[in-house]
Amino acid sequence: MKAARRWLPWLLWPALYAAGLLAAAAAFASAAPLAWFNAAYLSLALAIALLERWLPHEPRWLADDGQTPCDLAHTLLTKGAAQVVAALAASLPLAGAMALRPSAHGTAWPLHWPLAAQVVLALAVVELGLYIAHRGAHEWPPLWRFHALHHGVRRLWVANTGRFHVVDSAFKALLGQLPLYLLGAPLAVFLWVGAVTAVTGLLTHCNIELRTGWLDRVFSTPALHRWHHSRSPAEGNRNYGENLVLWDLLFGTWYRPARRPPADIGIDGEIAAGFLAQLAQPFTASGTRRIMGLSPVPRHNGPPSPPDAGDRIGRT
Ligand SMILES: [Zn+2]
Ligand SMILES: [Zn+2]
Repeated sequence: MKAARRWLPWLLWPALYAAGLLAAAAAFASAAPLAWFNAAYLSLALAIALLERWLPHEPRWLADDGQTPCDLAHTLLTKGAAQVVAALAASLPLAGAMALRPSAHGTAWPLHWPLAAQVVLALAVVELGLYIAHRGAHEWPPLWRFHALHHGVRRLWVANTGRFHVVDSAFKALLGQLPLYLLGAPLAVFLWVGAVTAVTGLLTHCNIELRTGWLDRVFSTPALHRWHHSRSPAEGNRNYGENLVLWDLLFGTWYRPARRPPADIGIDGEIAAGFLAQLAQPFTASGTRRIMGLSPVPRHNGPPSPPDAGDRIGRT
């Protein structure tokens, strides 16, 4: 058992990643791809949840934070919305995107490439949109107010993988996937990008003790993403990649210092406790002030006003 605890951290990330992708391949080859993919996704999430108990990276993150129902509700809402959009895209192609899309004769997408190569190209394209959306969400307060929900957690574990405000998710999906529509990528490529993103996301947030070494220079791994959840903007405004870290490396935001990432994670602001309140919070002035860590009630005659929201976030 001791020996297993020594080598499992090196083996688990590639093993779980490969298992997730093989299960996705089997699901896509079946008669009911969506149902089987969901079954595979749930099985992988369950396996990760069990491994978190056995080999935790941060034992204190095992304690209940009272947010599990909210984490799951946000996951269902954003994932459900994504699947509706995917289903619509399959049957009635998105009108706006199709209007802008080049004609079938002039498509820029290399349809003659092997599917695996098309998926790698698609991931690089999608990641640029996701990088811009994610970095914008950290550096521009009108977007941070939605993204802060994801960073409001005090612990990382498999259940908060999908904890995103639905507006945050929709914005990321738009910037990430629209270029693929415009370039004329086929449905199979969209499905695979979705599968890779789902599997990577489960692993990125997991609380399993893992060693990923050189993989940190290719994929968005837990070792990198734990820094992204740091309270310190100098550490947290890094590692924006969702699947690949290509654009972080190119734009200088890749970050992996040779020390342990912080266990005390979160934000300076305050996120509402309940699911519906969390959805509504960015749409109200007082909710936004709480998210930004400012006084909930503007003070007109009191002490000097707190710094501007942008200054307080200080995310560069
Ligand atoms: Zn973020
Ligand atoms: Zn995260």
